[in-house]
Amino acid sequence: MKILVVGGGGREHAIITSIAKSSKVTKIYCAPGNAGIAELAECVDIGVMEFDKLVDFAKKEAVDLAVVAPDDPLVAGAVDAFEAAGIRAFGPRANAAIIEGSKAFSKDLMKKYNIPTAAYENFTDAESALAYLETASFPIVLKADGLALGKGVLICKDLEEAKAGVKEIMLDKHFGNAGNTMVIEEFMTGREVSVLAFCDGTTIKPMTSAQDHKRAQDGDQGLNTGGMGTFSPSPFYTDEIADYCMENIYKPTMAAMKAEKREFKGVLFCGLMITPQGVKVLEYNARFGDPEAQVVLPRMKNDIIDVFEACIDGTLDQVELEFEDNAAVCVVLASDGYPVSYKKGYPISGLETFKDKDGYYVFHAGTKFEDGKVVTNGGRVLGVTATGKDLHEARANAYKATEWITFENKYMRHDIGKAIDEC
Ligand code: ATP
Repeated sequence: MKILVVGGGGREHAIITSIAKSSKVTKIYCAPGNAGIAELAECVDIGVMEFDKLVDFAKKEAVDLAVVAPDDPLVAGAVDAFEAAGIRAFGPRANAAIIEGSKAFSKDLMKKYNIPTAAYENFTDAESALAYLETASFPIVLKADGLALGKGVLICKDLEEAKAGVKEIMLDKHFGNAGNTMVIEEFMTGREVSVLAFCDGTTIKPMTSAQDHKRAQDGDQGLNTGGMGTFSPSPFYTDEIADYCMENIYKPTMAAMKAEKREFKGVLFCGLMITPQGVKVLEYNARFGDPEAQVVLPRMKNDIIDVFEACIDGTLDQVELEFEDNAAVCVVLASDGYPVSYKKGYPISGLETFKDKDGYYVFHAGTKFEDGKVVTNGGRVLGVTATGKDLHEARANAYKATEWITFENKYMRHDIGKAIDEC
């Protein structure tokens, strides 16, 4: 089979690493890819939003399956575009990807179908939002409705901050049209866990759990980022919690999307908060998480192509997902200054150390080739993942492996997975 993966970050490198293991696959293309992906796939210089070019390329090369990984193209209808041209594609269509593309939609869906989530109100004008805040209790959470690179969420400790937040989102439009509608949500406390699940429109099969570290600095300080590291499984996501989520969140979400005639096929990412009042949904994403994929996929035993095809064909009920009985930790190596401003173009050394080392992976996020060398080309540069028999061993292995890599301006958090010490 010939596969085309759309995307070019660490998540796509992890997906392609799994695809490359499938005996069914003869050729992998990736648009646009990166320097690490180029070792496993032929990278093509087409952007993720250039649907016409992507479809033309897939037709020309007789691609059997397109895998759309990032949120923007999914929400904008990349899967619909491939399907319209007769090309099989993995991922939700636009009418289902709205579960990530509009927070107001997802909150209304949860309310209508009794799926546990924080109390909220949606607003389409700043005046009503400000009037609502006058009587609200604090802290409170403001969320731009649309996609905002994970930055459209403001946690406001008092009325003053919240008023400034409304201005930022709805009046000054810091997040563009994503802020035309805004959700104001109750602040929740608890431990966060990410659960990715394969879906075929009817059946939902959760993968092993993971936990992200969104803040830039140790101790969960600093700005929100795309994610500075992950571990899997989460020891806080017990079997009892998993059973509760299956009956009260995963299955009802599948059924709700089907009832709304928005059958969800692909990967549903449930961002959950384990609160003192029970588990509640923080957010849904319509795709693999980044860097969650970098710890979940290396632990998956199934042939990923079989699972993708079962999702498309509606036969996921016949698939048993299997994961290694081990653990994985991913530490993101970033450019110092991320997520605000940082320099790029520094040569990276030590990548070859990972070759032929079982249980160690270096997933490229922001890298490219320059004069035959791999150089930094983004805020998040690499994701170093290691497995181990348990989380402690995996964490020690991952941090050991971060030392194999050097580049100027290398920055990382030193407390990825520290939460497991509290368990
Ligand atoms: P991303 O796409 O990067 O995952 P996002 O922009 O879709 O992020 P959310 O996941 O909804 O945003 O929120 C980002 C973070 O803000 C959450 O991981 C959580 O830490 C915090 N957060 C969001 N909603 C709440 C809430 N109601 N109470 C407390 N914290 C919250």
